[in-house]
Amino acid sequence: MVDKLPPTSKSYWQDSVSLPTYPSLLQDEKFDVCIVGGGITGLTTASLLSQEGFSVCLLEANSVLSGTTSLTTAKVTAQHGLFYADLIDQFGVEQAKKYYQANDNALNFIEKMVQEHEITCQFQHEDAYIYTDSDQEIEKIEKEWEAYEQLGINGELCDSVSLPFSIKKAIKMSDQAHFHPLEYSKAILKLCEKNGVTIYEKTRAINVEYNKHPAVITESGHRITCQYVVQASQYPFYDGLGYYPTRMYASRSYAMIVKADKTIEQGMYVTAGNPVRSIRPIKINDEKLMLLVGESHKTGQSNDTMMKHFKALEQYGKENFSVTNILYRWSAQDYISLDQLPYVGPVTKHQQNVFVATGFKKWGMTNGTNAALLLNDIITEQANDTKELFSPSRSFQITPTLEKFITVNADVAKHLASGKLKWGKNDIDALANHEACVTTIDLKRIGVYKDAEGDLHAVDTTCTHLGCEVNWNNAERSWDCPCHGSRFDYNGNVLQGPAVKPLEKIDWKKTLEK
Ligand SMILES: Cc1cc2nc3c(=O)[nH]c(=O)nc-3n(C[C@H](O)[C@H](O)[C@H](O)COP(=O)(O)OP(=O)(O)OC[C@H]3O[C@@H](n4cnc5c(N)ncnc54)[C@H](O)[C@@H]3O)c2cc1C
Repeated sequence: MVDKLPPTSKSYWQDSVSLPTYPSLLQDEKFDVCIVGGGITGLTTASLLSQEGFSVCLLEANSVLSGTTSLTTAKVTAQHGLFYADLIDQFGVEQAKKYYQANDNALNFIEKMVQEHEITCQFQHEDAYIYTDSDQEIEKIEKEWEAYEQLGINGELCDSVSLPFSIKKAIKMSDQAHFHPLEYSKAILKLCEKNGVTIYEKTRAINVEYNKHPAVITESGHRITCQYVVQASQYPFYDGLGYYPTRMYASRSYAMIVKADKTIEQGMYVTAGNPVRSIRPIKINDEKLMLLVGESHKTGQSNDTMMKHFKALEQYGKENFSVTNILYRWSAQDYISLDQLPYVGPVTKHQQNVFVATGFKKWGMTNGTNAALLLNDIITEQANDTKELFSPSRSFQITPTLEKFITVNADVAKHLASGKLKWGKNDIDALANHEACVTTIDLKRIGVYKDAEGDLHAVDTTCTHLGCEVNWNNAERSWDCPCHGSRFDYNGNVLQGPAVKPLEKIDWKKTLEK
């Protein structure tokens, strides 16, 4: 089934919503706040700060709501996999409680917005479950349940759930939700417009000139001078020597909307162990369907072809739900921080008016909304007892979870060096349409893609962010960086940061003539 679909498809969310368009920035301007990034985080922050009376401008590199917010599973929940037992081990009960409450508040905020503004976005309450069908994971589930009890989380330890196969154990978090993320975010966008937020699309921010009044510099050379900069760009384009590349990595997952003989009647689910599978119900034109998500891996680092992940997900769907049809499929990424908590606050201790909001660990519906609420409190100087917990400058202890992270991120150096060494001469003539390969010419590693018409497109594969070597992603037809998750189209244009500059385009014909 997967083979019959085009390799890249829009998500259902993108396919079912029409969004307004906005002009590009063509001159220098001044605002109180410049927000970079038009996803749920940037838009929610813009709506809150404009509501407080700040003049706000929002810059978006592509189109608003074209980032991960348009590619999510859209569970709105404080249940973020098996997490709270680890959180208690790492930070203690009080801090773990704050994390839970911040995400629970975000869920309640979203629901309040839906009610107050009568947003039609399929917002629906649903219990959230983490389940296992393996004896080896029962202990972990029981430990997580103890954490729920310690934190006073409303839920239950269950022996059975409404899945069409048997399980060994599950934990329920009661009264969570799911929604249509773009219908919701579009309403927030309308609110921003109503509050006078100025929005520029096709306007990539590439730097911040740090000062008492910082200036955001765009790719076209224009500047927005302001009092506060908020980087809601999923990954901070301005690092300010906060060393974010050493503290975060990009993780990609695969999603599909399927029709199945055995659907789920209620609840949303995530597996306790690997491979992670996340499942939720979804209705399209009154038809009961399912959204299946899983197959995470570090961006640019899948050993085989990216298509194998869709095939594995399809196989899982067939075996467990008797999937008969795949209606949509897409893939997307999010960032994971050193200690698995988001970084929300000043980019460094010494730059208190330039903020970041990142590291949502694939739970950004609530974490991104919480980031907006927290940044609003920081900028308006209101009390918020999670400032320290989410501060990007927080200290941390080395725990087993953190050791695992360091192991995962340690391969960055390997990709910086060995990507450049693993050169091989490929036969470009043998490429089929839509295939790509890497070759070397004059000691330069060059990526070559053959398009639908058989024309070749070549780029220097050195990532313009920090110099790692990008790899071909045949599912998305993009060049993906294994170090920090930047992605480029076959012509080298930036699809996703942290890179802000395109890959160097190589004139293929000239190169061959040499
Ligand atoms: C497969 C998958 C499933 C997920 N499922 C869930 C879920 O069920 N529940 C949940 O809570 N979370 C989930 N998440 C996570 C959630 O979708 C994200 O954390 C959230 O959407 C991030 O929102 P954002 O606004 O921070 O980023 P985005 O929506 O990515 O928005 C950032 C925007 O910034 C723009 N931008 C980037 N760089 C620049 C620049 N230099 N200049 C200008 N603009 C720039 C981008 O173009 C983009 O539009 C999932 C994530 C993935 C990958």
